[in-house]
Amino acid sequence: MENYDIAVIGSGPGGYVAAIRAAQLGYKTAIIEKYDTLGGTCTNVGCIPTKALLDSTHHFSEAQHKFNEHGIKLNQIELDFQQMYKRKAEVVSKNTAGLDFLMNKNKITRLKGTAGFVNNSTLKISNENETIDLTAKHYIIATGSKPSTIPGVEIDKQRIITSTEALSLKELPKSMVIIGGGVIGVEMASIFNRIGTQVTILEYADNLISTMDNELGKNLHKILKKEGIDIRLNLGVYKAENLGSSAKVLFKDKDGTENELEAEYVLVAVGRKAFTKGLGLENTGVEVDERGFIKVYENNQTAVSNIYAIGDVIGGAMLAHKAEEEGVLVAETINGQKHHIHYDRIPGVVYTWPEVASVGYSEEYLKKNNIPYNVGKFPFSASARARASMDMDGFAKVLVDPKYGEVLGVHVIGARAADLIAQGVIAQEYEITAEDMFRISYAHPTYSETLKDAYLIASGQGAINI
Ligand code: FAD
Ligand code: NAD
Repeated sequence: MENYDIAVIGSGPGGYVAAIRAAQLGYKTAIIEKYDTLGGTCTNVGCIPTKALLDSTHHFSEAQHKFNEHGIKLNQIELDFQQMYKRKAEVVSKNTAGLDFLMNKNKITRLKGTAGFVNNSTLKISNENETIDLTAKHYIIATGSKPSTIPGVEIDKQRIITSTEALSLKELPKSMVIIGGGVIGVEMASIFNRIGTQVTILEYADNLISTMDNELGKNLHKILKKEGIDIRLNLGVYKAENLGSSAKVLFKDKDGTENELEAEYVLVAVGRKAFTKGLGLENTGVEVDERGFIKVYENNQTAVSNIYAIGDVIGGAMLAHKAEEEGVLVAETINGQKHHIHYDRIPGVVYTWPEVASVGYSEEYLKKNNIPYNVGKFPFSASARARASMDMDGFAKVLVDPKYGEVLGVHVIGARAADLIAQGVIAQEYEITAEDMFRISYAHPTYSETLKDAYLIASGQGAINI
């Protein structure tokens, strides 16, 4: 029997961060992962490989469409799909190797196998060679999520695939229908459309990335459409069929009209569900909700006081940085520290080009809840930096309390929005007013100046640059 202070189940961003923080605080810590490599969904088949391919395909697209105007003449631009995927795989291995290094550096015991609870205080870890019994004073469940699907659409991983299979295709697909215009849908659509796949997005809602401030999805729609992606909204997919060398999707428009589309691949991107298979929760007092997510109470404690749960497996925003924050919170809670996460100040980013990033309340939320607000919106087309780089699509929009100037929401679609949003998080977390935000100096020329002007507009001062 192996004994630890803290055993972390799952090595995604929730699990590995929890383990590192626990070890830093002096706990004898083990991390258990069923796969060969650490890093979970994010590192192996999520954030990292998608961003590697988004970057590669963005370069390809820039070379095709913008280099000429920059005065760079290339005789022939050719796509080496296998090399693109090989580089993606190398980026992933470098990151998983980085995690191996961090586990060793922090003296965290790494155990390979599927961990299942025998009861509230004992774990059995099984791999192809052995079974290990383990006890720990505290357990942190960080087993993450898997793609979900809709009735009538069975993911067969051959023709009807998810983002995971799309990240290991052997050849460039000629055509792809993506079910779902959420975050995975638009990122995958961007990757494949840029390198020549004919992409169609089928979305149930009346907007892309519909959980974000609506203007972002509307603007992104225009941009992606202009780039050649066929986007169809307000419809419900009810069936998909593998036809051997292609697949067919059947869907109904809002008025009930039946439609179908055929493509080399159908990519299902309709959300993800909690992964608890093999975890033996039935042998514990840990509760799950009606959708299968583990129920947690204060400080991410489950119904069993020595078992905590974090990340995708508990639901909420399925984001790597949300899982990481929860990992730190639990390790510090066990250590007797007080820590708090403001869930409405966790930024969301979509890595299309331009990028989309958001933190705080959307305009729709403020309207629905009768919360007064002022809007400050500044277009990237009026930014000197954006003109220099030819990245003039998008805008920065801030929503500000009219009386006290508190920043209620920051929503950006534009070049490097993913990095710009950090200042929105700071403004909201520390309740900095819009006036404070425009009175500080912004380096010129930078994309961040779009936010300075947006804060000026929202405060009734008038922008300098428009
Ligand atoms: P996971 O990363 O899912 O890790 C769980 C781990 O637990 C897995 O390795 C699994 O093998 C292991 N495990 C499960 N059960 C057991 C068991 N019984 N025993 C042992 N091990 C077990 N988020 C972002 O913030 N930014 C992005 O850019 C982004 N891009 C994404 C792109 C894609 C295509 C996808 C699918 C997701 C993306 N996400 C992104 C979401 C992000 O990947 C997840 O929110 C994040 O990985 C959740 O972390 P986690 O630690 O909760 O779980
Ligand atoms: P999502 O919830 O973002 O989007 C799913 C979309 O599918 C929704 O827009 C929904 O309306 C649509 N849909 C549902 N049923 C449908 C039907 N029958 N027909 C047509 N459309 C339908 O989920 P996702 O894109 O699968 O992503 C899963 C999770 O992964 C998300 O929670 C996301 O946060 C995370 N993720 C994050 C990033 C990032 O941070 N950049 C990238 C990828 C994934």
